[in-house]
Amino acid sequence: MNDLESIQGIGPKTAELLGKLHIHNQNDLIRFYPYRYDILKRSDITNLEDGSKVVIDGVVEGSPTIIYLNRGLKKMIFRISNKKTILNISIYNQVYLYDELKSGKDITIIGKYDKVKNTIVASEVRFEKLPIEPKIEAVYHSTSGLSSKNISKFISSAFLNKEEEKDILPIGIMEKYNLFNINDALYEIHFPRDILSLKKARQRLKYEELFMYLLKINYMKLKINNDKKAISRSISQDKINEFISKLPFKLTIDQLKAEEDIIKDLNSTKRMNRLLQGDVGSGKTVIAFIASYGNFLAGYQTAMMVPTEILANQHYLNAKELFKDEKMKIELLTSSTSKKKKEEIYEKLESGEIDLIIGTQSLIQEQIKYKNLGLVITDEQHRFGVNQRDTFKNKEETPDILSMSATPIPRTYALTIYGDMDVSSIKTKPVGRKEIITYFKKEKDMYDVLNLMKEELDKGHQIYVIAPSIDEDSDEKESVTDLEEKMKKAFGKICKIGSVHGKMDSKDKSNIMTDFEKKKIDILISTTVIEVGVNVPNASMIVIFNANLFGLSTLHQLRGRVGRGDIQSYCILIAKEYQERLKMLERCNDGFEISEYDFQNRGEGDLFGIRQSGETGLVLANVNRDFKMMLKAKEDADYYIDEILNDETGLYDSVKQELMKIEYLD
Ligand code: ADP
Ligand code: MG
Repeated sequence: MNDLESIQGIGPKTAELLGKLHIHNQNDLIRFYPYRYDILKRSDITNLEDGSKVVIDGVVEGSPTIIYLNRGLKKMIFRISNKKTILNISIYNQVYLYDELKSGKDITIIGKYDKVKNTIVASEVRFEKLPIEPKIEAVYHSTSGLSSKNISKFISSAFLNKEEEKDILPIGIMEKYNLFNINDALYEIHFPRDILSLKKARQRLKYEELFMYLLKINYMKLKINNDKKAISRSISQDKINEFISKLPFKLTIDQLKAEEDIIKDLNSTKRMNRLLQGDVGSGKTVIAFIASYGNFLAGYQTAMMVPTEILANQHYLNAKELFKDEKMKIELLTSSTSKKKKEEIYEKLESGEIDLIIGTQSLIQEQIKYKNLGLVITDEQHRFGVNQRDTFKNKEETPDILSMSATPIPRTYALTIYGDMDVSSIKTKPVGRKEIITYFKKEKDMYDVLNLMKEELDKGHQIYVIAPSIDEDSDEKESVTDLEEKMKKAFGKICKIGSVHGKMDSKDKSNIMTDFEKKKIDILISTTVIEVGVNVPNASMIVIFNANLFGLSTLHQLRGRVGRGDIQSYCILIAKEYQERLKMLERCNDGFEISEYDFQNRGEGDLFGIRQSGETGLVLANVNRDFKMMLKAKEDADYYIDEILNDETGLYDSVKQELMKIEYLD
C-alpha cells in the first residue's frame, strides 16, 4: 500500500506523478526539500515600473467584469483598494474565481505591473491578507500536472498525520551546537517562520547528513580493518627493489613512496583500500604493475580493470614488455575477445594459470571465478561506480584494492568522496619532462595552427587532433570525418593520417592505435576516446577543436596525452571566441589547480561524477560549501563511533540501524 494516498488530495494519479519525483511514501514527501524560497513581501506601489513584480493586498471593490477575447480567451477585470490607493487588476482565464471575488473581501494579488494599461496582471490570487512580516515560501521542483503549490499542500497535510520522530543525533551534539530537534528542523525547512529558523533547520539537517556519512565511513574502516578474511603476505622488499632496478628509468621519490606504501599494505594483515592519485603522466601505471608483481610473488592473482579497450590493450602490451623476463602470465580480456579465447581465459583464471588479467568492464560483467584473486586494480578510478568495484569477490579471502585516479583532489575531499580509502599521491613528474606549452587559438587563426603542426611533423613527431563529434558537424562542432578531410588536404602529401572514434569496431580501433604507436600514422584524428591513459611518447602535439565544449579537467587529461617523453610538447586549444577559462590552461599545467578552478566554477558535479547523493546520503550538505561543518562532523564522528557501537542501553539503536544498512564488500 502506498501510504501517500492517505493524504487528502492524493489519488493513484497524483501518487504516480509524485513517483516521478522519487516520492514514494510520506517519509520521502517530508524529506523532499525545497530547492529555493520566495520571499513574499508587500511591494512599494508608489513607484512601480513597467513589468516589475508586484505583491499587494487590498479589498475587492464592486464586482469583476468579464471580457470575452479571441479564441475563447476570457479576461476578468476588477479593482482593489488599500489604504493608499485604488488599483486595477486584470486576470486571464480564471473566471472560476468570479464568485469568490465579492466586494469587500480581503485578497492578495501576485502579478506584474503593466504601465501602459496601468493595471496589475495577476498570476495568482489569494483570499487572505499579507502577513505583516515578510513571509518565506518554499518552492519545490515540480513536474507537469503537479505544481510546487500542490506539493507544499501535500507536505503540510503529511505533517498533520506525522508522528514525532526520534532524534538520531547524540544529545551531546545537539546541545553542543544548540541544534533544532529533527521535528522542528523538518517542519521549518518547509514552512519557515523566519530567516533565522530556516537557517537553523538547514543547519541541523545538513549536519545530520554529514555526521551520518562520516560515521558510516568510520564504521566501514573499522570493519575493513577487522576483516578476518584479509590477505597478508610476506613480499620481500629486496625482490621488489631488484625488479625496480631493472626498469628503464629511475622511479621518482613519490613513486617510490607510493610503491612502498602499497607493498606494506599488501604485507599487512589489514585489507588494503588505497587510492593512488597523480596527475596525468606522473607514472602511476608502473606502480600498479609493481604492485601486481609483488602480489604475484606472494602467489596471488591480480585483476586490472580499465575504462576503455584501447587502454586495456596498451596496458597489456606494456605489461608483456615489462615482465618479459619474469614468469608472470598475463592475459587480456575485453568485449572483443573471441568467445573461444574468453572461455580459455576463464578456465585459466579458475585453475590459476593466469597471474595478471587486464581488461575492461568485461572483467565484472562476466561470472569469472578466480583461483586466488589477491589484488584488484582499477585505473582512472573515478569512472567506475563504487558498486562495480565491489563485485570482485573472493569467497575465501577478500582481495586488496588499489584504485588509480588522475583527478587530483585535496586530502580532505578525498576523505569525503572516497571515504574509507588511504591515499598515496605522486606529485612530481619524472625528471626530464618538459612542461607542455599550451596555446589558445581562435578558429579564424587556423593558418597559424597548421603552421605549428607542420613544424612538429617536420621534426618527425606525431600529432593528435581531437574533435567533439564523430560525423555530424555543425557550426558549433567539428567532426572527426570532416577534420580528416581537412587534414588530408593540408598534410596528405607529406604524412599519413588516420582516425579513431567510439563507434568503430574495436578491432579496427586497436589496429589504428597500434599503427599510431608504430608511427605508421602521423596525425591521429579522434574523439575523446583517447582521453585516458594512452601513451605514445613520440606524439608531441595535441590540437583540440571546439575546446569550449569540454570541461577543464577533460582538457587537461587530453593534454596529458603528449609530453610523455623528453621532447618538447604542445597543446593547441581552438575555439571561436576568447574564453578566460581556456586562457587559464595556457598559464597552468597543474592538474590540482585546474580541478580546483573547475570546482569553483562548475560546482562539484563534474568532479565528483558518480558520487550522487544516493551513495553519500548528502542531499542538502555539500562538501565544498559546507566544508567547515564537515570538519566538525568528522571530529564528532571520530569521537562518537566507539560510544555508539558499544552502547548497550539502546540509546543509539536508530544510529546503529543506519550503520547496519551498509552492505560493504561482503
Ligand atoms: P599516468 O600516471 O598518467 O598513468 P603513465 O603511467 O602512463 O602515467 O606514465 C607515463 C609515461 O611515463 C610512461 O611512458 C611511463 O613509462 C613513463 N614513466 C613512468 N615513470 C617514469 C619515471 N620515473 N621516469 C621516466 N619515465 C617514467
Ligand atoms: Mg594512466
